[in-house]
Amino acid sequence: EGGGGRLYSPSDPLSVLSGSSLTATVSNSSCGWLVQFMSSWCGHCVQFSPTWKALARDVQDWQQAVKLAVLDCAQEINYDVCKEYNIQLYPTFKVSNTPTSYAVELYVQSVRQLMVDILQNHSSHTPALHSVQILPLLGQRSDHYTAIIVEDQHSYVGREVTLDMWSYSGVHVRRVLGSDAALLDTLNITALPHFSLLNPDGTHAHVDTSSSSAKPLRFFITWCLRSLPGVRRRFDAHLDNVPAPPQVTAVSKVYMADLESALHYILRVELASHPTMEGEELQVLKDFVTLIAKLYPGGGPVVKLMERLSDWLNGLPLKQIAYQAVLDLLDNKMRTADAFLSPGLNWVGCRGSREGLRGYPCAFWTLFHVLTVQQHHKPQALANTGLAGARGVLTVMRGYMRHFFGCRQCGRHFDSASTTLTSVNSTGEQLLWLWHVHNQVNLRLAGSLSDDPGFPKRLWPDPSMCAPCHEEQAGARVWVREEVSRFLQRHYADDNLSSRTYT
Ligand code: FAD
Repeated sequence: EGGGGRLYSPSDPLSVLSGSSLTATVSNSSCGWLVQFMSSWCGHCVQFSPTWKALARDVQDWQQAVKLAVLDCAQEINYDVCKEYNIQLYPTFKVSNTPTSYAVELYVQSVRQLMVDILQNHSSHTPALHSVQILPLLGQRSDHYTAIIVEDQHSYVGREVTLDMWSYSGVHVRRVLGSDAALLDTLNITALPHFSLLNPDGTHAHVDTSSSSAKPLRFFITWCLRSLPGVRRRFDAHLDNVPAPPQVTAVSKVYMADLESALHYILRVELASHPTMEGEELQVLKDFVTLIAKLYPGGGPVVKLMERLSDWLNGLPLKQIAYQAVLDLLDNKMRTADAFLSPGLNWVGCRGSREGLRGYPCAFWTLFHVLTVQQHHKPQALANTGLAGARGVLTVMRGYMRHFFGCRQCGRHFDSASTTLTSVNSTGEQLLWLWHVHNQVNLRLAGSLSDDPGFPKRLWPDPSMCAPCHEEQAGARVWVREEVSRFLQRHYADDNLSSRTYT
C-alpha cells in the first residue's frame, strides 16, 4: 500500500503501488503498465482521480495487455523511487520499460487513446490489415466470427474494440484503413467508420451502427460482439467445456418460481443451520418475514402464510426461539389450503448451465430487487412496521447477509458496501443503490469461477435491454440513472413477473 489508497480504494480496478512494489510488479510483468505518479497534496491529482478510476473501469477488460497503477510521491516511503524516476510535476505518467513521461488531459478518452498509442509501440500491437488479407476470408467457413472495422487512420474505434475483445474467444477483430479502395469496393462501403461481420458459416453482413448515433460507437460494436452466440470470456479450462444451456427463458422476464424457490431455501435450508435464534438474529428473522408479508408480489398463498408468521413472531413474548418451532408453524400449524409455501427448488430465470452455478444467489438478488421496486411503488406498505422509511428493504437485506447468508465472503463484501447506505434518502435511491452495488459485484466476479459461461456477468442492463440507459460523456460510457431507474421499475414490476415453471 503506497498511500494512494487515500484517493483510491481496493475496489478500483487498478494497482496502488509503492517504492518497494513498483519494480517487482511492473518490470517483471508480461503486460504493459501505465503508472500515474501523483501527489496526494496536489489538487490537480485529487481532481484527476475520478478520471483515473473511470478509465480503470473502462479498460478493465484490457488488463491482459495493459494495466493501470498509481503511486503517491507524497508518501515518505516513496520519496526515493520518485527521485529515481525523476518525477518533477504531478501527475506524471510513465509506461513500463520505457523512459518516456507523458502529460495528459483530464479526459478518459484522451488517456484511453494514449494507452492505445502505447500498445501500438508494444509487442501486443496488431497492425491494420489490407484487403489482400481480408478478401480471401469472404465466403469461407470458420470456427469463429471475424469483425471488420474500416476507419480512418486516426480513428481509435477499431483498436479500442480489439482491446475490449482481448480476453474473449470466438471472434477475431480486424482493422482496415479507409484508404483501402479494393475493400471499400468489394464490401460496398460508402461511409466510415464501417463495421461488417463475417459469420462462421461464410456469410457476411454490414452491421448498421446508425441506430447508435447517440451512443459510443466503440461500446456499441463491443456489445454486439460480446452478444454473439459462442463468443465468451476465456474461462478456466474446466468451464470452457460447459455447453451453454438451451435458452428456454427470457432474460427480459422475472420468474415467480425463482422468488418462491429462494423463499423455500431461506426458510427451510439456510435458517435451519441456526437451531436457536435470539437478539439481532431473531430481529432479522422477524423483519424478513414482515417484509415478505408486506411486499411480496401477487398477494397469494405465500403472502398469507407470511402474514400469519409475521403476526406470531412480532407478538412473541420470548427472547429466544427454536428454528424447529418456526418450521412447525410454516409446514403444519399455519399451513392451510390458501396459505402455504411450496417446497422444493425450481429455478427458471436463475437456472445455471450446470449444478452449482446461479440458482439461489441469483434468486436472492432477484427477490431483493423486486422488493425495492415494490416498496417504491407502495410507499405506505411498510408504515406501522419497524421498517418504515427509505431503506426498509436494504436494512433487512443487510441484516440477512450479515447473520444468515451462507457465503461469508459475500456477506463481508456487502457489509463494506453498506457503509454508503446512509446516503439513501428515498425509495427511488434505494432501488438504484442495490442496482449499483449488484453491478460492482458483477464487475468483480466477471470471469471468476462462479461466473456461468452461459450467463456471463456484465454491466446490467446491457443496451439490448435498455439502450437509453447508456450514454457517452467526455469519451466514456456512462449510465443515465433516470433511465436505469425507469427500467428497473418496469423490469421488476408486477406485470413483468411470469408464473412459468421449468419443464
Ligand atoms: P446474479 O448476479 O445473481 O444476478 C441475478 C439476475 O439479476 C441476473 O440474471 C439479472 O437478470 C439481474 N441483474 C444482474 N445485475 C443486476 C443489477 N446490477 N441490478 C439489477 N438486476 C441485475 N459470489 C462470489 O463468488 N463472490 C462474492 O463476493 C459474492 N458476493 C455476493 C454478494 C451478494 C449480496 C449476493 C446476493 C451474492 C453474491 N455472490 C458472490 C453471488 C453472485 O453475485 C451471483 O449471485 C452468483 O454468481 C450467480 O450469478 P448470476 O449469473 O446468476 O447473476
